[in-house]
Amino acid sequence: SLATRDVHLSLGGNPVLRGVSIEVPRGETLCVIGPSGSGKSTLLRTVNRLLEPDRGDVLLDGESVLTRDPNLLRRQIGMVFQQFNLFPHLSVERNLTLPLRRLRGLSREAAVEAARQQLDLVGLRHKAGARPGRLSGGQQQRVAIARALALAPQVMLFDEATSALDPELVKGVLGLMADLGEQGMTMVVVTHEMRFAREAADRVAFMDRGTVLESGPPEQFFEAPESPRLRQFLADVL
Ligand code: ATP
Ligand code: MG
Repeated sequence: SLATRDVHLSLGGNPVLRGVSIEVPRGETLCVIGPSGSGKSTLLRTVNRLLEPDRGDVLLDGESVLTRDPNLLRRQIGMVFQQFNLFPHLSVERNLTLPLRRLRGLSREAAVEAARQQLDLVGLRHKAGARPGRLSGGQQQRVAIARALALAPQVMLFDEATSALDPELVKGVLGLMADLGEQGMTMVVVTHEMRFAREAADRVAFMDRGTVLESGPPEQFFEAPESPRLRQFLADVL
């Protein structure tokens, strides 16, 4: 399971996270929604230690991640960003083998084998030799997901993974994410895709101004929101 406990964080003097506690039991998907600037990306960055909280804790299976070796954590918690963040000068295959060798310490042969298997799973084995720039946005995002999954993480974090994609490519990536959730991956998904949240999430959380204002199972969250701010937000986006 993954949890944050009363996480506080200020950036440039702004209180961006103001006491955030989330809990994601193993195998469950938490979708996080909320207005721009509410702290969603900052929360994910705090979970995998790209940022350090000023106060509070982040727990993986009950143990604080704040004292863990960051490289070990990068293996245990995979993250996928809006802008793919692939290495543009490396082939697709090398994008996968590099972290496998650096973070999992695999030999060249074992890394290539694992990379190809993972590319098979996202349907992109035939692109192994191509540079990312030759792939569509949807394909690049599937490579980014494959790269994270190749490290066999316990948790996957997605930060608006489909926001930069052309509309016709969104479905394939969301489908891959939904499959992953069904296979039992523990996931935190920041998304604007309300249909995905409704269908794929076990719980949905609404962030507003650095706090989780409301959370619940999707039916209740979408059908019977309690806070006026969430009701307004849903009215604006749905
Ligand atoms: P979006 O939906 O637009 O991606 P978000 O919910 O992910 O928004 P964050 O990126 O977490 O929001 O940002 C939360 C707040 O923190 C914003 O008000 C932002 O301006 C502020 N912020 C982020 N990074 C910094 C920084 N390095 N210095 C100062 N303020 C920052
Ligand atoms: Mg963001």
